[in-house]
Amino acid sequence: MTGDVTVISGPSGVGKGTVVRALASAHPQVWVSISATTRPPRVGERDGVDYFFIDDAAFDELIANDGLLEWATVHRSARYGTPAAPVEAAVAAGRRVILEIELQGARQVRDRLPGARYVFLAPPSDEALRDRLTGRGTETPDQVARRMETAAIELAARNEFDHIVVNDDLGQAVAELVELLGL
Ligand code: 5GP
Repeated sequence: MTGDVTVISGPSGVGKGTVVRALASAHPQVWVSISATTRPPRVGERDGVDYFFIDDAAFDELIANDGLLEWATVHRSARYGTPAAPVEAAVAAGRRVILEIELQGARQVRDRLPGARYVFLAPPSDEALRDRLTGRGTETPDQVARRMETAAIELAARNEFDHIVVNDDLGQAVAELVELLGL
């Protein structure tokens, strides 16, 4: 599969979702992959919009059928993966494809799509990230601790990426992505 694929990774809490949504709403040629996950929906999340919320058996079946471009267990709890067929269809349709995924998944995509663009979204500082992870209010203290643990691993991998965009100001981060993607 060739085409225009951008992988956006970075620690959870850095604001990947917000940045990607802002980019997509301003640029209709951008197509954002919807992941499958075994984690339960948060309040306000919609099936088929934010994620495809599926159970473990359905996730196993996707893996067995080679239906995922990549997948990973995140924060030692739920599994997340990128359904392959919609990505292939979007690439075939000439869309600018964005995968917003964590580090382990980004590494798998790099093996399969070495020609894709790899962007690391970084927090302005470790403290800013901790504040965001704590302040989201949707996670228990145990979940926040696990997210910080994962974040430390992810931050250490930033140099594996082609580009680093610091998410200090939303508009600025989106503008940098627009430039990188040539939109
Ligand atoms: P959350 O549960 O906060 O929505 O997402 C947790 C983490 O999973 C985030 O870092 C997010 O980028 C990542 N993630 C979401 N979808 C996928 C996916 O399809 N594959 C991988 N590897 N990670 C994903």
